[in-house]
Amino acid sequence: MSLPRRLARELKALDGETVRIGGHLEDYRALGGVAFAVVRDGSGSTQVTLKKGVADPALFALFETTPRESVVEVEGVARRSEKSNRGVELFPTAVRVVTAAEVPLPLGVVDKVGADLDTRLNHRVLDLRKPAVRAVFELRAAVLDGFRAAFRSLGFVEVETPKILRQGAEGGATLFPVDYFGGRAFLAQSPQLYKQMLMAADFERVFEIAPAFRAEPSDTIRHITEFSSLDGEMAFIDSAEDLRVTLEEAVARTIAHARTRLTETGNPLVPKLADPPRPFPRIPFATVSEWLGRPGAEIDLGTEDEKRLGEIVQQKLGVPLYYITDFPTSIKAGTFYARRQDANPALTEYFDLGFSGIEIASGGPREHRVDRLLANMASAGVDPASFAGYLEAFRFGMPPHGGWGFGIDRFTWMLAGVPNIRETRLFPRDRYRLEP
Ligand code: ATP
Repeated sequence: MSLPRRLARELKALDGETVRIGGHLEDYRALGGVAFAVVRDGSGSTQVTLKKGVADPALFALFETTPRESVVEVEGVARRSEKSNRGVELFPTAVRVVTAAEVPLPLGVVDKVGADLDTRLNHRVLDLRKPAVRAVFELRAAVLDGFRAAFRSLGFVEVETPKILRQGAEGGATLFPVDYFGGRAFLAQSPQLYKQMLMAADFERVFEIAPAFRAEPSDTIRHITEFSSLDGEMAFIDSAEDLRVTLEEAVARTIAHARTRLTETGNPLVPKLADPPRPFPRIPFATVSEWLGRPGAEIDLGTEDEKRLGEIVQQKLGVPLYYITDFPTSIKAGTFYARRQDANPALTEYFDLGFSGIEIASGGPREHRVDRLLANMASAGVDPASFAGYLEAFRFGMPPHGGWGFGIDRFTWMLAGVPNIRETRLFPRDRYRLEP
């Protein structure tokens, strides 16, 4: 088998040529005078057709005894064909079993009956072979590409900040401690403090796509303990609106980019990638409270509230993506770096971005004046001594700035329309899962 390996999607253009393919043996069926094998690779699958009296009898026997999902290589002649729904058939002259799969498979790859998510995640490699599952990761890759392209063209530079920290941005409750040469360190729950420090270092506009770790014991469909955060930070902003306009632009460009990319490969998720109506509505928190039937209340939104809000926004405004603005200071009290409104310190300038009832991002202008920052720390009960490196960045000239944290997993999840955020990560980590 010395021919170069071809992919399933290339074969249609290779009519009449002798080619070699390699992939997983998905299926084999013998029907009297003819037998069909299906070999799947990363680009799709190929129908291999064996005709009695034409194909070597040994090939029938080989396919018959080879377990499903084994890796096989097939050499043969590609022929365009109306009979195959792939538009091409491969007539084999040689077949090699590269590695045989064990029997039985713990998870069927082509089963019509869906296995439960736990079983799927326990045998994730087999699960990832399913084209519908693969489609989600193709979307995820396009989302990452789309954001990188969008932010670069908006003048942002990509950065990488430390993930091993002495101190977290928000209290210790959701930090994973790690043993650091006999001392204690933590896994970063967000790049918050570092991206802000870069604003004092003339970086102007930065973004980072990196893992964030949350030691939240919650067991929900939208929380995982390791997620990918898309963080942005911008210097010399005039208001929260500068941040919202930029984030909205990047989100819209990313959806358009993903649609183009996925259309090229025939991904079934394309219909979910319609351009969102813009501008995204800006709904003050006070209005949200009213809509949820508790006017004037300053209670943070729970899962059920967020879900109902998503429905109300869809009903009233007919859009999936919306900002909730002007979060009350009482709700953001622990977020000491969130800037309070000068005209009304009972409100912050903070906002969330919602997507059909799920919070996918949150951010706002930060407090850049060190005296006010220290006052916020004091009222949040945070010891400034633990933030010496961060605070130093404010002492020698810090411009007004702001930014956001945006969950790549939640965004991909909402775009793909799969039931659980875990399905957007290759090997998800949660309260109960550290393997595979
Ligand atoms: P929530 O209130 O939903 O728990 P949060 O307020 O802790 O989220 P932030 O700290 O503001 O979230 O993080 C910014 C973004 O990061 C969120 O909008 C979300 O998209 C993402 N995110 C936060 N925590 C998680 C998590 N445990 N799993 C997945 N994504 C997360």
